[in-house]
Amino acid sequence: MNPRNPTRPIFVGDQRTGIVQIGGGIAPDHPLAHGIGPTTAAPVSVQTMTAGYTHDIDKCVAEIHKLTAAGADIVRVAVPERKDTEALPEILAQTTVPIVADVHFHFKRALEAVEAGVHKIRLNPGNITDRAQVEQVIDACKERGIPIRVGVNEGSIIERKDKQARAKELGAVFSDQKHGYMLSIMIAKLEEYLDIFYERDFYDIAISAKSMDATVVIDAYTEISKRFAHPLHLGVTHAGPKETGCIRSVVALGTLMANGIGDTIRISYANDPIYEVEDGLELLYSLGLRERIGAELIACPTCGRIQVDLFSLVQEVNEKLEAEILVPMKVAVMGCVVNGPGEAEGADVAVFAGDRKGIIYVQGQKVATVGEDEILDRLLAECKDFQERVRSGEAKLGEKKVDIVPPDPEGELGSGWEKMAAQRMGHTPLTIEGH
Ligand code: SF4
Repeated sequence: MNPRNPTRPIFVGDQRTGIVQIGGGIAPDHPLAHGIGPTTAAPVSVQTMTAGYTHDIDKCVAEIHKLTAAGADIVRVAVPERKDTEALPEILAQTTVPIVADVHFHFKRALEAVEAGVHKIRLNPGNITDRAQVEQVIDACKERGIPIRVGVNEGSIIERKDKQARAKELGAVFSDQKHGYMLSIMIAKLEEYLDIFYERDFYDIAISAKSMDATVVIDAYTEISKRFAHPLHLGVTHAGPKETGCIRSVVALGTLMANGIGDTIRISYANDPIYEVEDGLELLYSLGLRERIGAELIACPTCGRIQVDLFSLVQEVNEKLEAEILVPMKVAVMGCVVNGPGEAEGADVAVFAGDRKGIIYVQGQKVATVGEDEILDRLLAECKDFQERVRSGEAKLGEKKVDIVPPDPEGELGSGWEKMAAQRMGHTPLTIEGH
């Protein structure tokens, strides 16, 4: 993991919603700092966007509440029509998370949204190109002290007068890159657009450069991060259904963030946006960029040694943990003892299944052996008890690893193949048939 790229932070929200810092760490003497003192990069935030109509106030508010409860730090709403911006004051009054207005084509929607009190505006240089209109939006945001995201998408069209010359110039810079021409257009568009902001002494800017192609996303943000010290909003646009969109988003965003690039993310699926929030958070947890809330579940993929219905058990354990565990304990659900204990190392609570049974450990101590039907309830009870002990200070997360002495394969859990293998190997290693 590379350290985070320093950027000029922006601040989204107000006293009522709380303020989310995006980016940070720019040196106070950097030409873009403009009055920003020393800061450190804020934790990467997770954004999403409502799927319903903004003018349908009750449904919009309910959706925002649902997304906030799932962990969204910022929620964006579309405002294509006047009736959408008219709904904003009521929506803002009823919600507790910073709200961003997504503006395309009609600069007046941006002015109306700012007037309504939104916490940030997203502008697309590809479809709001009139300089005077952009200036009006900048001035309105400046007066209210709210930031603007400049979202250059793959489809944005270059409008600058010297566009061909500049694109050619940049094209030469990127000529050795697969996406050189696309990058040259994006960079040129950003330069042109940001100049309008700088000329009006406006620096509270975030940048996005999304594409539906994960490799373009990686290349574009990598180049942008070298040239602009503004926080970057990462995303793969039109990523598709959750199943494939997840892979495309995670590979692009994960690669960038592992390289220190990216300050806020939005994963986008053709599905309920709650999955965008859940998967975005999980990605940040996996990279160690956010502190996990709730349990982390480790589970084996199962194989021919399995003797319980592990897939159902894992699903049920996951649901129960999500509902009842709020401390970031590690919980392992392993199909057998062959590789189980080794792979569950670091788990606070673990169950190793055997022949229609499960043996449960808490921080290295065996606490129970139960029948398959009782595994879920007993495991959850142990997790809840451990949670209470952590909260009271009696136990500490990750304090004792699962360096347990594995159960005897010939004993209460072992059977069949494992017994034979263990006999051959003198019972010693648990990695007799690794995977
Ligand atoms: S050998 Fe590994 S994958 Fe197979 S059941 Fe045991 S723990 Fe699971």
